[in-house]
Amino acid sequence: MAHVLVLGGGFGGLAAAHELRRRLPRGDEVTVVAMSDKFFVGFAKLWDLAGLRPLLDGTRPLERLANRGINFVQAEITGIDPAGHTVETTAGTLTGDGMIVALGATYRPANSALLGDGAFNLYHAAALPGIHAALEEMTEGRVLISIMGAPYLCPPAPFEATLLLEERLRKEGRRDRIDVTVSTPAPLTLPVAGPDASRYLADQLVERGITVLTEHHVESIDHAAGVVRFDRGRTVECDLLLAVPAAAPPPVIAASRLAGADGWIEPNKRTFATSAARVYAVGDCTLIRTATAQLPKAGVFAEAAGRIAATNLAADLYGGVRLTFDGYGFCFLELPGQQVATVTGDFYAKPRPDVRLTPPDTASFAAKQQWEQDRLTDWLD
Ligand SMILES: Cc1cc2nc3c(=O)[nH]c(=O)nc-3n(C[C@H](O)[C@H](O)[C@H](O)COP(=O)(O)OP(=O)(O)OC[C@H]3O[C@@H](n4cnc5c(N)ncnc54)[C@H](O)[C@@H]3O)c2cc1C
Repeated sequence: MAHVLVLGGGFGGLAAAHELRRRLPRGDEVTVVAMSDKFFVGFAKLWDLAGLRPLLDGTRPLERLANRGINFVQAEITGIDPAGHTVETTAGTLTGDGMIVALGATYRPANSALLGDGAFNLYHAAALPGIHAALEEMTEGRVLISIMGAPYLCPPAPFEATLLLEERLRKEGRRDRIDVTVSTPAPLTLPVAGPDASRYLADQLVERGITVLTEHHVESIDHAAGVVRFDRGRTVECDLLLAVPAAAPPPVIAASRLAGADGWIEPNKRTFATSAARVYAVGDCTLIRTATAQLPKAGVFAEAAGRIAATNLAADLYGGVRLTFDGYGFCFLELPGQQVATVTGDFYAKPRPDVRLTPPDTASFAAKQQWEQDRLTDWLD
């Protein structure tokens, strides 16, 4: 009887756990270990921010994994021994016959250290009540949405947040007194999608009176004065800062033998195998190099990798089919008025990713809603 440990209960971990459950004999055990006892899709935070739907409505408890014959242990993983397929956790030591590592990413500490006091982490669910309170109090001034570094999760999300927030302020009749500005350290809004898609997105922002600052690196924040200082001596005054810190590898991964020089795991980009036998790594905790940069840190890719890794681990244990990832995927780009565009294509193509923007429509918005519901239902009903 085999026992597989799935580290993490996000996109990668849940996709892997269910695929393992499908492929392994009934008597084998699949155990998901995660710090958080809940799952929601990342974009549900933006719907909450925009006042479209509370985050709780799209949140499901991981204890429901038991209904599908998958064990769930809520604990913090404090050590990983890949060769022994063992993890140290706050709930004790767990050992399996194979392991899928899907621990996501955390935030770059130097970026997080700049936040607080009117400067919120836009991506952090726990920041939402504070953001709402600050927004409700605001009658005039400026909201600055600022990407602090790269890589960061889901490249379009800060711009989607900007557009949805602008729409909210407009609906509430406050937009004429509140300026909306978005900044990025990159030369384009969406480098991963190329210049055409970036220009399209910048046009969408500018058409709505949003100021777009490219090549702006946040250096410091003067909370008392309400000033964000960028490189080259540039400053922007703001009354509310919604910041997106750069992603960083979870410390437990950076400290493990699985980590490469930068602290991320760099598995095989097609099979997601790591250097340790029967240990796979998927999702945001990995660094997958592409021809020009790296595979975006997105749930779509974490999920695809989770399924492939699970299939390959099942084959390691019992033989059978093996799968490889072809690099194809997509990112949603949500625009106001319940419109969604997608950036779709081959992210592994050479000499550069071959991805295209499909124009926005309401059918794609409905598909995005359905995409979320399918995952909540298939994984955690
Ligand atoms: C605002 C926003 C919008 C987004 N929109 C999209 C979108 O439209 N499309 C898209 O594809 N992606 C989107 N994303 C990105 C997406 O949410 C992430 O890329 C995805 O969640 C990554 O999946 P993962 O499984 O690698 O990690 P996660 O989903 O982050 O899961 C990590 C898991 O590991 C657990 N964990 C971490 N450290 C430990 C530890 N030490 N011990 C125990 N457990 C631990 C966590 O509790 C969690 O269960 C968005 C993200 C944000 C923030």
